[in-house]
Amino acid sequence: MSVLVVGSIALDTIKTPIEEHADLLGGSASYASVAASFFAPVNLVGVVGDDFPKQHVELFASRRIDTAGLQIVPGKTFRWSGEYMWDLNIRETRSVELNVFENFSPALPESYRSTPIVLLANIAPALQHHVLDQVVQPRFVIADTMDLWINIAKPELISLLARVNMLILNDGEARQLTGETSLIRAARRIREMGPDIVAIKKGEHGCLLFGGSAFFSCPAYPLEDIHDPTGAGDTFAGGLAGYLSSEDGSEITFDRLRRAVVYGSVLASYNVEQFSLERLRTVTPGDISERYRLFQLMSSFEAL
Ligand code: AMP
Repeated sequence: MSVLVVGSIALDTIKTPIEEHADLLGGSASYASVAASFFAPVNLVGVVGDDFPKQHVELFASRRIDTAGLQIVPGKTFRWSGEYMWDLNIRETRSVELNVFENFSPALPESYRSTPIVLLANIAPALQHHVLDQVVQPRFVIADTMDLWINIAKPELISLLARVNMLILNDGEARQLTGETSLIRAARRIREMGPDIVAIKKGEHGCLLFGGSAFFSCPAYPLEDIHDPTGAGDTFAGGLAGYLSSEDGSEITFDRLRRAVVYGSVLASYNVEQFSLERLRTVTPGDISERYRLFQLMSSFEAL
């Protein structure tokens, strides 16, 4: 099965206390589609300007990512700049230039419309709605979001929740969306708004997965060297959606979602080891299986 990914495609400038790099490939759809492509073919939907380097499009094309839904229009590509503090969990946005993103209207090529798994990566909820208006009977729809949309587009985000099977967000966003301090209560409130499954990410502390009466707490893979946390959430979502697409057409059970969360975490752990998508470019399926195995060894224990 293939996976449809819609989101932002950006040129990022990232500053950490140690390094600064400009005009790097970034954006939620870039991270998510490359992560998903390790497991399944991807149908990418996004927009870039005519300044977007060709080598980035070639990266997508070399990864079984279909770019028929990538619009290249006159103007400048979306640019985002962020700065990390010594605590790499703390980030400030330094600048945002919407550029061609401002008038983006995602249009799905005919060949994308019946993609079974849909990942609405982080992008304005109105655009996520617009994509859902064009897909035909998707099997499983996952949405990601960010604090900005909870602040400026809450009604559209709430109405989107009724149309998705799973929402991915971080702990701060879950609290902001629901007004609950307990993440358990926040997940329950979100599930009452629509999605049957909710994943709440807690940065370097892992992720909580809620569905029906089931619950799974996934730790984060312990890393000594983190160079650039940008895109960890998008990579997690892409790896998760890709893994779900890679299993055959059978039911999406909670066990399957648990495995998908672990694979998403493995991909995210690789992504933060280098700037931009540099690590995702070089990581191999063998590396992914090996880290999955180590993760499993580290996290499981016999009854004490
Ligand atoms: P994350 O680190 O997972 O929050 O994602 C970082 C990526 O999100 C960067 O590569 C940015 O280009 C992209 N981004 C930043 N702001 C926005 C926005 N308002 N809409 C869509 N993508 C964004």
